[in-house]
Amino acid sequence: MNEIRLHNTLSGKTEPFTPQTPGEVKMYTCGPTVYDYAHIGNFRTFIFQDILRRFLKLRGFKMNHVMNLTDVDDRIIANAAAQKVGIREYTEKYAQAFFADCKTLNVEAPEYWVRATDHIPEMVQLIERLQKKSFTYPTEGSIYYRIAKFPQYGKLSKVDLTGIQAGARVDNDRYEKESARDFALWKAPKEGEHFWETEIGAGRPGWHIECSAMAMKYLGDTLDIHTGGIDLAFPHHENEIAQSEGATGKPFSRYWLHAEHLLVEGEKMSKSLGNFYTLRDLFAKGYKPSSLRYALSSVPYRGKLNFTFDGLQQAASSVERLRTFSDRLKQGKFPTGSNPAMAASIAKAANDFDAGLSDDLNTAVALAAMYDFVREGNIAMDKGEFKQDEVASAQKFLADFDRVFAVIQDDDAVKLKALGFGASEGELSDEEVEKLITERNAARARRDFATGDRVRKELADHGIILEDSRDGSVRWKRK
Ligand code: AMP
Ligand code: ZN
Repeated sequence: MNEIRLHNTLSGKTEPFTPQTPGEVKMYTCGPTVYDYAHIGNFRTFIFQDILRRFLKLRGFKMNHVMNLTDVDDRIIANAAAQKVGIREYTEKYAQAFFADCKTLNVEAPEYWVRATDHIPEMVQLIERLQKKSFTYPTEGSIYYRIAKFPQYGKLSKVDLTGIQAGARVDNDRYEKESARDFALWKAPKEGEHFWETEIGAGRPGWHIECSAMAMKYLGDTLDIHTGGIDLAFPHHENEIAQSEGATGKPFSRYWLHAEHLLVEGEKMSKSLGNFYTLRDLFAKGYKPSSLRYALSSVPYRGKLNFTFDGLQQAASSVERLRTFSDRLKQGKFPTGSNPAMAASIAKAANDFDAGLSDDLNTAVALAAMYDFVREGNIAMDKGEFKQDEVASAQKFLADFDRVFAVIQDDDAVKLKALGFGASEGELSDEEVEKLITERNAARARRDFATGDRVRKELADHGIILEDSRDGSVRWKRK
């Protein structure tokens, strides 16, 4: 097995990964702000985190992973007030949509899902600890963090704060601050908006304190890994460090991992450019969950990922290739005996796969290892040189691969149905059905039963039932 190395934003270096407690990883992930549906950019980051946790699990680590739902935020509170509903009522729809999206993209549930609204007392206690150590000052009912008290501020993002003058406005907060860099831990209530009555006064928490309080409650003072998108490094994660380390005097997280942003057709995603997509937008266009998961995980997380529809189409064919090979392996009748060259290829592919992921989650290398093997495997099968003795190790490699990439198992149709996109029955025209049946017949004639079965399944997914009659002809009907 290869040494796992991860790029740590804190040191700016790729370092060997060792958790504090051998065999166990304490990881915190900044979750979505549930004021709208998550977009595919968010899912680039969530899938990177999922690949990370799945790979660590594959390597035998026990995960202790916390992910939060940011369900307190200025936009949420303002939107809820405008719609005259409670915060829970406003966010519930988006929280449920997020859980459904995660399931659809095979993003595993963390050990703890936590909501900011369930942890107001923990946030208040953390602010009180900071108050006692003079890290805070009050202004007009709000409480601010005094960055001048934390000289290491900026160590994560290496942000240069010298240009930010005291008194200059770097955000829209209307309150007086000692220094423009200072940020709100607790915000005074606004007219007509929700607030909590607490020991430190009435109001609502700032975004940054939410993550510090929840991470430390479930994982202790020092985490092994903290993750998020690159836009969170400053100021959000910098502020989390200032709060947590200010309160405890201990390092907050040993490794900080950040995913680069996703671009769409070379541009930043934005509603005004018309290139802003949620998962549902793509499924409505007929794309499959597995294609999206594959496309989002195929570029290593620290590289910019340019999302294109061409790329999504290619991802679909790549997944199809893997599934067909997996079926062939499952259903094929292979000659008895062994083929040492093939055994060596499987061992090499498995090692290259592990080496790729161990190298700061280089998914491109890991995928290339799989495709090299699929190509060799298919050639050997065509020539009758793939032997029975290699089936188990090949299947084990595919299974390990899928414990991380999670695209081979074919349940796209079921998932789409669960999201209400199952109305694909009747979508195929009679001509299309006939064409697929001809394809299936041709595959069966050349004894390519894997392809034949795939076509049958594709038809079944569209509600088409085949009846093979004794004379060899095929009849079909719609369900
Ligand atoms: P939010 O719901 O805005 O709090 O974001 C949830 C996660 O998505 C955070 O980790 C963000 O850094 C990440 N994120 C936001 N936009 C993008 C993008 N275009 N590409 C990749 N990750 C993003
Ligand atoms: Zn956070």
